[in-house]
Amino acid sequence: MSGHDHDHHHGHDHGHDHGHDHGHDHGPFQPDIEDRPLTHYQAMTEAVADLLVAKGIVTPAELRKMLEIIDSKSPAAGSKMVARAWTDPGFKQRMLEDVIAAAAELDIDAGGIPIKAIENTEGVHNVVVCTLCSCYPRLLIGLPPDWYKARAYRSRVIREPRAVLKEFGTEIPDDVELRVHDSTADLRYLIIPARPKGTEGWSAEKLEALVTRDTMIGVAVPQP
Ligand code: FE
Repeated sequence: MSGHDHDHHHGHDHGHDHGHDHGHDHGPFQPDIEDRPLTHYQAMTEAVADLLVAKGIVTPAELRKMLEIIDSKSPAAGSKMVARAWTDPGFKQRMLEDVIAAAAELDIDAGGIPIKAIENTEGVHNVVVCTLCSCYPRLLIGLPPDWYKARAYRSRVIREPRAVLKEFGTEIPDDVELRVHDSTADLRYLIIPARPKGTEGWSAEKLEALVTRDTMIGVAVPQP
C-alpha cells in the first residue's frame, strides 16, 4: 500500500493522484468495464449464462473453464497447419478441402463450425473480415484482435481493401487481385499465405514462426 498510502491534504489540487506529480494534466481515468451500460448482446449473454447455471445445465466452474480454454488459444495451431501445407502438397490439398479434418491429422481440434482455407497466390491476395461482428477461427488462431472487431475495419476493408492493407504496412501490387472474404457464424476463413522465397529447406519451427496471426487474416504477408 505504500505507494497509495499518502496524506490527502497535501498541497496540490489533483482530485486523486498516485502519490507522484505528473507535471501535466492527464485526462479522465479509463472507465472500468462496469461503468459502461451493457449492450443488448452483453445483457443477453449474461442472462443466458445465469439461466444455464440456475437450471443446473452448466456449473460456474464449467463456464470458467471454457473461457479459460478459449482465452488460452493462440495462432500456434494455425501456424503449424500452414507450415505443414507449405512443405506437404498432399496436406495442403486436404486442408483446402476440409480444414477441420486436416487439423485432426495434426491432433488439432478446430471445433465444429466449418472453416474454409484460402490460398494466397502470385496473382491473388486474400483478406478476411466479418462485416457483421467478429466471426473468426478462434480455435486455430486465438481470439480476434480488437481492430478485427472494430467498425472501422469491418466497414472499410470491403470498400477499400488496398488502402486498409496499406495502413497495416502491407502493400499489394496493383497487378495482384485483392479478394475480401466475409466470415459468418456458419463459415470462417483461414488464409494460407504464400510461402516466401528463400525459405527452401527451413525447419518446420522456423517456417511456423513466419506464419503469424495477421498473415492468416490476410492483413500481412510473411516476412523472412
Ligand atoms: Fe461475426
